Amino acid sequence: MPRSKEEPEGFVLPKVDLRPFTRDSKKIDTRIFLKGHDYESKQFLWIHVGAVEIRRSPEQGEVEQYILRAHRLVGYTDFEHDSAKALTIPMIGVKLATGFSGCVRLIGWIDFNPERANDLRIFNPNALDKEASTCKDCEKPHPIVQYVPSPDPVLFNKIRGMQVEIFIGATSDPEPA
Ligand SMILES: [Zn+2]
Repeated sequence: MPRSKEEPEGFVLPKVDLRPFTRDSKKIDTRIFLKGHDYESKQFLWIHVGAVEIRRSPEQGEVEQYILRAHRLVGYTDFEHDSAKALTIPMIGVKLATGFSGCVRLIGWIDFNPERANDLRIFNPNALDKEASTCKDCEKPHPIVQYVPSPDPVLFNKIRGMQVEIFIGATSDPEPA
């Protein structure tokens, strides 16, 4: 039986819209696509999110390792007042593909190294924040949540080594200033 091309590798990719939970999503639009290992695999929209940051790992091994992260909304911190993250993705080989009309397209891969399974962390909009509370010590009360979402080693195992394309640009319909 021919495998379905509707999803990479025949599994249902959980699509996540993190725009309501991440910074600057009214101004900045980031779309993260995943492409299956199969040469003929299409790309699938995986994550829609506001502003992201991509950093190269300071530990220089044989492979250039990167981490893509997105912050929760301003004011969401952990108990130590470090700003909370909505998303971390372990990547390798991130390169600029093209830039046009203020939009950049990056390509890279989900790291295939199983040691980085714990770096795949995606906020679940359908789950309440674990151990969420409100800090009243600060001038302005704010939510205290987990520093990062829980890791998803099962999904990591399915998608490690897959190609990623990231489009970062201005939102097409920005809110008036
Ligand atoms: Zn506080």
